[in-house]
Amino acid sequence: MNTAKASTASRDAGHFIAGSYVEGTGSRQPIFNPATGAVAKHVALATPDEVRRAVDSAQAAFPQWADTPPIRRARVLFKFLELMNRHRDELAHIITAEHGKVFTDAQGEVARGIDIVEFACGIPQLLKGDYTEQVSTGLDNWTLRQPLGVVAGITPFNFPVMVPMWMFPVAIAAGNTFVLKPSPTDPSPSLRIAELLLEAGLPEGVFNVVQGDKVAVDALLEHPDVKAVSFVGSTPIANYIYETGARHGKRVQALGGAKNHMVVMPDADIDQAVDALVGAGYGSAGERCMAISVAVLVGDVADRLLPRLIERTKALKVLDGENPAAEMGPIVTRAAHERISGYIALGEQEGAKLLVDGRGFQGAQAGANCGGGFWLGGTLFDHVTPDMRIYKEEIFGPVLGCVRVKDLKEAVDLINAHEFGNGVACFTRDGNVAREFSRRIQVGMVGINVPIPVPMAWHGFGGWKRSLFGDMHAYGEEGVRFYTRQKSIMQRWPESIGKGAEFAMPTAK
Ligand code: NAD
Repeated sequence: MNTAKASTASRDAGHFIAGSYVEGTGSRQPIFNPATGAVAKHVALATPDEVRRAVDSAQAAFPQWADTPPIRRARVLFKFLELMNRHRDELAHIITAEHGKVFTDAQGEVARGIDIVEFACGIPQLLKGDYTEQVSTGLDNWTLRQPLGVVAGITPFNFPVMVPMWMFPVAIAAGNTFVLKPSPTDPSPSLRIAELLLEAGLPEGVFNVVQGDKVAVDALLEHPDVKAVSFVGSTPIANYIYETGARHGKRVQALGGAKNHMVVMPDADIDQAVDALVGAGYGSAGERCMAISVAVLVGDVADRLLPRLIERTKALKVLDGENPAAEMGPIVTRAAHERISGYIALGEQEGAKLLVDGRGFQGAQAGANCGGGFWLGGTLFDHVTPDMRIYKEEIFGPVLGCVRVKDLKEAVDLINAHEFGNGVACFTRDGNVAREFSRRIQVGMVGINVPIPVPMAWHGFGGWKRSLFGDMHAYGEEGVRFYTRQKSIMQRWPESIGKGAEFAMPTAK
């Protein structure tokens, strides 16, 4: 174990301001190991004053960083990429320790974050402007994109490496400086990332971390030097961030919650559909914004698919995330465990048929010392209907509900009527069904025989409806646009300026 790893993994999680670790003076909150329920360490909650220091540090670093040629900024990112690759397992272990997800899943999360760094390394190409020669005689016009200044990222617990990496690689590559406010549930990866960025040669103050809760978030939203805010989290908070940020004159992209449906058509390969539902419904204990939480079973599919799905749900290997045999780890916190268990009880009261009940799962089954952990098995409901709260609301746990419909039209109408529109999937062998589904569905990210269609780094990520507030998706070219503003320049030289003042609107001559 190297020293840096030892320090990030073992010490309390403080802040990272102007290139240095800062313990923090405000209150502290415990961080749990979800597999055992034990307090692992504490996280500092930033005071408004500490947030102001972080923003001041980013503001001070901005002019020089914005003036650094894009290719030199890209070189820092190339070095960071190399360090991320070298430390990917170390980061994945830190994720598993605080989040609980299985180690291979944590490795996948780090890998998808690295994709964005690779994309951001191409920033000189991405920042190229447009040029038109001779828009009028002797007059040229071009557009270029410049960074905004200090930008902030506020991120959720469920991807403590990947989601911040949807934001800061693109933001800093474009010449901005960054303040990250991670989830206080699993804050440590952000500090390790800050150390690696510094080691890669990023100047002090370009990337800062403040831990905290609503107090820290509000201090960022109200600070006049924060020019843009990227948020990922639940819908009520996304809505709040969007409205409050806009009221303070900021550019905001706020990605919210989800209820992702997977349609299984009668012609689908049933084994493939069952594999997809088990992996996408219960992977990461359903704590993914792209998790499938509703199976829409068309025609006679339910009777063929459900016996296999029940069997697979009961056989899930729910173990400590560090156990290589684990398919699913514990729930992230006791509060989340109580919320999810409450939804299972609610589903029974609402009249859905509980086929597999994960509430009976004992920590002892998960492995040694796991008795106090936040354990839940996979849960499966049939006969869920659109009026039920377990259908309408985001449960964010390993609970899969099946809705039976008669045909594709009913499936599409059902999904389009839902308030969320993050991800969706359709399993079919019929090309026309796939095409019609993709065209008509009102959801931002669509998978055809792909249960979790998280777009690649250069395509951008974002939902529709109440899954995203703002105009631009995260990362990809939309990310570059979000973190830059366009400037148009018109230029001519004295030789081509005519005589006399012009009072009419200028037109091409
Ligand atoms: P959350 O909304 O509770 O927290 C997200 C962030 O907001 C955290 O940094 C948190 O500290 C902060 N926050 C919480 N309450 C706040 C308040 N009252 N005022 C200001 N800030 C506040 O979300 P979470 O539980 O950490 O993450 C799970 C949620 O995130 C789910 O709803 C999931 O769907 C969503 N999510 C969405 C996407 C997406 O891309 N759309 C991706 C990942 C997660």
